[in-house]
Amino acid sequence: MASKWIVLVFSMLWCLSAASRLTGETETDVDEGHGHDWDIFDINKEAGLDLLEGDIVIDETDSRNTILGEQYRWPQTVPYYLKDSLDINAKGVILKAFEQYRLKTCINFVPWKGEENYISVFKGTGCYSSVGNRQVGKQKLSIGRNCDRLATVEHEFLHALGFWHEQSRADRDDYVNIMWDRIEEGKDHNFLIHGESVSSALNVPYDYGSVMHYSKTAFNIGSEPSIITKIPSFMDVIGQRMEFSDSDLLKLNRLYNCTTSSTFLDSCSFEKENICGMIQGPVGIAQWEHRHSVAGGPNTDYTNMGQCDGKGYFMHFSTVKGNHGDQAHLESRLFYPKRGSQCLQFYLHNSGGADDQLNVWVREYDKANPKGKLRLIQKIDTGGIRDSWELYHVTLDVKMKFRVKFEGLKGTGASTGGLSLDDINLSETTCPQHIWRIRDFTRLLETTPTGVNIYSPRFLSPSGYSFMVSVYINGRSSPGSMAIYFHLTSGPKDDSLTWPCPWHQATMALMDQNPDIRQRMSNHRMITTNPNKLSSDGNDFYWDNPRKVGSLVTGSDGSQFYRGPGTGTSSYLAHSRLKSRNFIKGDDAIFLLGLEDVSALLETQPLPRSAVHQSKKSAVIPPSQETTNTSTNTSTVVMAVSMSLAAVMFVVAMVSVVYARRSRKPESDVILVENRDI
Ligand SMILES: [Zn+2]
Repeated sequence: MASKWIVLVFSMLWCLSAASRLTGETETDVDEGHGHDWDIFDINKEAGLDLLEGDIVIDETDSRNTILGEQYRWPQTVPYYLKDSLDINAKGVILKAFEQYRLKTCINFVPWKGEENYISVFKGTGCYSSVGNRQVGKQKLSIGRNCDRLATVEHEFLHALGFWHEQSRADRDDYVNIMWDRIEEGKDHNFLIHGESVSSALNVPYDYGSVMHYSKTAFNIGSEPSIITKIPSFMDVIGQRMEFSDSDLLKLNRLYNCTTSSTFLDSCSFEKENICGMIQGPVGIAQWEHRHSVAGGPNTDYTNMGQCDGKGYFMHFSTVKGNHGDQAHLESRLFYPKRGSQCLQFYLHNSGGADDQLNVWVREYDKANPKGKLRLIQKIDTGGIRDSWELYHVTLDVKMKFRVKFEGLKGTGASTGGLSLDDINLSETTCPQHIWRIRDFTRLLETTPTGVNIYSPRFLSPSGYSFMVSVYINGRSSPGSMAIYFHLTSGPKDDSLTWPCPWHQATMALMDQNPDIRQRMSNHRMITTNPNKLSSDGNDFYWDNPRKVGSLVTGSDGSQFYRGPGTGTSSYLAHSRLKSRNFIKGDDAIFLLGLEDVSALLETQPLPRSAVHQSKKSAVIPPSQETTNTSTNTSTVVMAVSMSLAAVMFVVAMVSVVYARRSRKPESDVILVENRDI
């Protein structure tokens, strides 16, 4: 009898484990089963936080006048320290958010080198920050569980830089109605207004699209909105967590007197007749023309796609006439690089001969070459794609004064059109690794059932891992929101790779195709492969070789390969937002995908010498020691001193926790006391 039971139990266990085995169909949600898009305030609520306005910390003496006070400003270069407590994915996301600041504002973030005041980023319970520079030395900012999203990190750092929430502006009652009877009991303080005497909107109009605006359901009871926008169409706009809005940037740039950004170089949509200061080649050879449309195509530019009368220009090199080998040159104005690596991005349209070609050159200036020396960077292979605007990225590595030169080259084939260029962006940023363009996206949006996904082609990461993403255009289990999952796949280099795939961060970005890179509000999600992660049955490593933990599948091109389990989110982007901005342009959507080795982020950020020196001298605990995995060689004497000090500090910490809890009343996403990192 007993043996029968054992068999039964064993067979049940086997069934359970068989059911939870990893396959190419497995999809794990990083939002941990939450049916909706989890915002900062939901995360903090679950974490049991009751901060000011949900994610703001204030000290007891704060009179809520931060933004107006000069003393609350940081220098344009802000020192940071990333604590070991942070998840690797969070560290990667934070560094990406810093890159957005560098591209779009004059704010730069640099590793802490011992400056008096710095931002210490750690994994607390929830996402929160103080408002402005509190001049407290180490100022804490928490990026906790589920806070590892680009816009969430941008949001918290905007607090740190001096910004309140948008709907706490003095003039907010002109733009939104706060539904007080729908707000959770005791949460009214989250909807207080900061008066004109203490806060400034910097003469920028109220912005429903601000990354600092609450969503319509913030602190609500049930499902009814707690905020109603006076212009109804903005109901689904408020609460966006994609990227900085134009007004967010305008305000930040005004507050910090920004005139330039550190990595942006140029953006040109050719709308103006001066063609962004670009220079044509010498007279006598073929020319690029500033055109509105061309008989042989394109009919419209890419910037406006024919939607605006009298607007919509591009540069066109006609290859209808002339001879094989004819060239047309278009050179940019001069640029002065700081970083030595750039990403050039542009749209190219080929309506000419099949072998008409575009070459990208740089002209570099140094003492030996005062008139510049040309260097070929890349021949653009249009891959036989004709008669459509296509996006290209070219990586440059220029370290001196330079220009970019576009060279059109007429091929041997018959042509009824030519090459056209539009929406050029040049920045000192890293180019996206891969482009996945989903054509006819509008139709797919209308016809794809919920629960049906499409897979991208397979791509290869720089370190050799093969991967793909799957997208549920109309949701995985409920419509209204796109879902996305990242899968490792079998690839040509699998035998020489380390398995399980260690610490690689996948970026899945739906590109906002605004012509100016600074105004793009692309939607990003990042996930990181933790090699120690196990399957739910504990039998396999989640990111192991797809041949081991995946399924044999057939790709759209008929090729067979293994696809491992996927990780991503069912709330990637709500349809209301998907249809906003320029996510869909010309009926197509573009995903920018990459897989990057982030194992270097496992290393502890080095402490500044002064801090190490000071810590050894006075046994003050440095930031890296606040987490458990430290490796400082402290002498026995200092250890003894530390231990006795620790007892004192424990009492102080307990007192400050009690103090923090008491003082954290007013609102709820702002921190009240600096010392609550335990
Ligand atoms: Zn906030």
